[in-house]
Formats: sequence, structure tokens, C-alpha cells
Amino acid sequence: MVHQPGEIDLAALKDESARARELDRAHVFHSWSAQRLIDPPTVARAHGSTVIDGEGREFLDFSSQLVNTNIGHQHPAVVQAIKDQADVLCTISPATVNAARSEAARLITERTPAGLDHVFFTNGGADANEHAIRMARLHTGRTKVLSRYRSYHGGTQTAVNVTGDPRRWENETGESGVVHFFGPFLYRSEFHATTEAEEAERALQHLRRTIELEGPATIAAIILESIPGTAGIMVPSPEYMQGVRALCDEHGIVLIADEVMAGFGRSGKWFAFEHFDIVPDLITFAKGVNSGYVPLGGVILSDAIFETFAERVYPGGLTYSGHPLACAAAVATINAMADEGMIEHAAHLGETIIGPRLRQIAENSKHVGEVRGIGAFWAIELVWDKESKEPLAPYGGGSPEVASVVAALKEHGVIPFNNYHRLHVVPPINISEEDLERGLGVFEKVLTDLDFPR
Ligand code: PLP
Repeated sequence: MVHQPGEIDLAALKDESARARELDRAHVFHSWSAQRLIDPPTVARAHGSTVIDGEGREFLDFSSQLVNTNIGHQHPAVVQAIKDQADVLCTISPATVNAARSEAARLITERTPAGLDHVFFTNGGADANEHAIRMARLHTGRTKVLSRYRSYHGGTQTAVNVTGDPRRWENETGESGVVHFFGPFLYRSEFHATTEAEEAERALQHLRRTIELEGPATIAAIILESIPGTAGIMVPSPEYMQGVRALCDEHGIVLIADEVMAGFGRSGKWFAFEHFDIVPDLITFAKGVNSGYVPLGGVILSDAIFETFAERVYPGGLTYSGHPLACAAAVATINAMADEGMIEHAAHLGETIIGPRLRQIAENSKHVGEVRGIGAFWAIELVWDKESKEPLAPYGGGSPEVASVVAALKEHGVIPFNNYHRLHVVPPINISEEDLERGLGVFEKVLTDLDFPR
């Protein structure tokens, strides 16, 4: 049964959560954390855009957990689809055919451009990127992979190395053949540009030079988030993305669009690359494909790359590739997104509510340097002051000031996504206008009053 807020037995919930916290502390090792320095919040229940903690307190989830619960929590159709699938068949070998997997692949490829008709299923985003890179290397016979600084591609070996973010630097010495370059980011331009057009042109020139100096014939792939997410939601211009596509075509380089965070409605389109009128060679996805209800990711292959493995073995696979519970959840999620007009809703929210409200907050807050985004995918840059643009937290580190902002938002009942000095406004794409306005009101209240002394 889908949980309704009024039905909680508060005493039982508190007992359950107290025990969970005790066991968590004793036995759970957490991602990206100093184990003894953290005090993770409990999520005991959730519904729609609301999560409920171990004390029974409700919060608006403006993080969509890790930007994955695109259709919110406990969508009844998806919960039912998982139960129905569990009743008939819980697991299968990847080397078999199954209705849930076949239908998920059909629904996904129905939404891709012509010539991208096959899906290799994975368990999440990092392994999707690992496999996409492997496919690109086997297809081209080349080894190098280029990726952006300010990107996130996952926490496994090659995925973490193509990631351009300080979190990979601590104990990763770098992987041979992985080369980073700067993408366009006008607010913090590496190219001394003053307009988007100039930024795009100079970033493309920088990429062209990088390709030339690395040796085009050694480069298997360029992997890019269509819209970089974790690293700051910097929406590139169509001209830039079309320029990258042209460079890939010129040199026979595979273009991998990482749609793990930006895909499945987050940007107001099924896939974010649709904003730029380009067609990638490989598309990786995860998260929103089934709102994270059961882990699932995948790689969508162009016909040309598919043909490489038509009569040659693809030397890779996963026990849970196309897991029926995950695929049943994907089928129900994609159908719900389509039937309930969620993609259009996300686009509408971005244009009419989130963008205008955040821009107004930026105008009135001393510490908001820039807001940017599209659809239900927005970032707020917290800075010491608008002139210096100095981040309120150092890149790669935390700060008490940012921690206090996050705490204030939570105190007022909103959970943001926070990365370094940035807050991301990334609620479920089907959030009601009323919940959205209520949450943005909290951002306004907390950010407008901010005044940190130096
Ligand atoms: N690629 C992008 C763009 C992501 O945002 C993420 C996760 O945040 C990943 C890959 C990794 O996905 P996962 O954590 O499912 O392995």
C-alpha cells in the first residue's frame, strides 16, 4: 500500500529509526564520507515530493535524493509494477529473454533518435559509463578518452578517472589515456570570455587544440554530460555541443552523452542532448529511467557501434543486466512520465516558476552570485560577494557557512542538493506548483537574509 502521511504510527517509526541509526553506526560504511564525522539523516518513509525522517518530520525533497527520484517517491503505478513483476519472476540470467527487459528497451529506444535502437542494461550510471568507454575503445581500436573538468561520471575505476572533480584526486593517480579539458562555463570562464558565444567559440578552439596535440588517431571517445549536473548544472549552448559533434565526426571519435543525471525528464526533455540538436553515438543513462526504485542503468548504442559487435563478441556483461524488477519499474516509470505529461511539466516549471523565482532571489541576496539551469535542474552559486565571485566553500572542500545554509533550509522543511559551494534545486519533475512555490519560498527566506562577515 502506498503510504499516506496521516497513517504513521509515530512511536513505532521512532523505535524503528532509533534501531536503524544504531545499526547504521555499527555496521554501515557510507559513500564519500569520513565515517566517524558524519551524522546522516534518516529517511523512514516518503511519498511524492515529501520525505519523512525518523522522528516523523516531513521535508520537501528538493534533491530528489541523488537527483534520481524524478517522479517522486512511491508512485503507485511503479510500486504496483514492481510487486506484479515480483509475483511472477524476480530474477533471470542476462543471457535470456524476458518481457520486462524487452519492453523497457522498446520504450527507451522509442525516445531516442533513429539509429540508436539497442540497449545494454547495467546496474547504474558508473558501470554504464565503464561499458560505453569499453565499447568505444573496441569500436575504434583506440584508447584515449577525453572528458571535461567539472564533470561527474561515477565512482568506479574508469568512471572516476574520467570524472573532472576534486573528489577523484585524493587517491587516484589518474588513468593512462584519460585527458581532461575545459568546457564552457561563462560565470567562471577559463577563456576570459564575456559572452556565451565567445565562451563557446573559445572552448571549442581549446578542445580542437587538445585533440590535435593528443593525436586524433589515438582518441576513442569524448565523454560529456549533456548538461553537467553534480559539477554545477552549466547548460552549454547548442553551438558548443554541435561543435563537439563536428570535431568527433572529423576525427572518427565516438561521442558519449552521459545522460545519467540530465536524462529522463530532468531538463524538460526526455534526453538533455535534444536541446542542442545533436545525436550522440552512445548514450548512458540510469537514475531517472525508473526513478531509482530498483537500480538500473544502461548504454544505448548507435547502429554503427552495434554492428561492431554483431558478429564479434562484446567481452563484457553483468549478472543483473536488465534485471526484471528494475525493468518493470522502468516500464511503469516511462509510461507514467508520458501519460502524466511530466516532461512538459518540468519544462514549464523551469520557465515559469523556478527560473524567475531564483533570479529574483539572486538579485536580493548578497551571497548568490549566479543561478542557472533548465527544466527541474537548477544551480545556485553561493559566493562571498558578487564582485570577487569567490566560492563560499573552496572547490573540493566544505565550509561552516554553507553548512549553516543547508541546516537553515532543513530547519524550514526543505532538503537541497549541496555540492561544495553550490545548492541545487532539483525537485521531482512532477512536483506540484504548490509544493514548488512553498519550497522556493524557503530558499528565498533563507538566502535573502544571508550576511556572512568576512
Ligand atoms: N554520470 C552522471 C552524470 C552522474 O550524475 C552520476 C551519478 O550521480 C553517475 C554517472 C554515476 O551513477 P551511479 O551513481 O548510478 O553509478
